Amino acid sequence: MSIRGVAFDLDYTLAVTTRDRDTILQAAVDAVDGPQISREEYLRAHRQHLTRESREPVFADILDGTASDVDPKSMATAYREGITDSLEPLDGIEALVTDLRSRYRVGLLTNGSVLAQRSKIEHLGWEELFDTTLVTGELPAGKPDAAAFEALLDGLGTTAEETVYIGDTPLDDIEGATASGLYAIQVLFDGSPDRDPRADAYIERDRLTQDLPGLLDSLA
Ligand SMILES: [Mg+2]
Repeated sequence: MSIRGVAFDLDYTLAVTTRDRDTILQAAVDAVDGPQISREEYLRAHRQHLTRESREPVFADILDGTASDVDPKSMATAYREGITDSLEPLDGIEALVTDLRSRYRVGLLTNGSVLAQRSKIEHLGWEELFDTTLVTGELPAGKPDAAAFEALLDGLGTTAEETVYIGDTPLDDIEGATASGLYAIQVLFDGSPDRDPRADAYIERDRLTQDLPGLLDSLA
């Protein structure tokens, strides 16, 4: 069967922050006089709240275990502004997606709250870039849950066997996509997770625009 649908993860796959995320988190914490929060602690709490309107419950969970009386909403706002302001697209992504749309249905599926992820998409000017743009905050479940990939296939109007998902995270992207019957291409970069053997193919992130079209042909 030939490939008809192509979909991407957002963070670390198509867009990166110019400052590392731990630095941005510490700056947000400092801005509201919050307690120290580790990146691991943040990611653990984030994973529990992939279908929310904002990151407020993420920070409420983290602050719950501390003596701090900082408002989780103000912390969520400070962090969102820090991330959004420093988010940049990788070179050539708009042209790549536009080119792919002449041959495939092309989608975006990103984990996170509505406010956090829609702010990023707006900041990048990508509201109309894809045929379908899905944020798990608006869905019944986040990646790797099958419900997230079902919503993606619905948006694309393709079946799992004719769709490729491209992302950097083994659990969310590679396990999630392949368990739902999609092809998966893992994006690799300096400091990325190791190659996941479940991926159908691998691609260097800085070669995405050059190598992806040919790689999609080879999967068909
Ligand atoms: Mg990612």
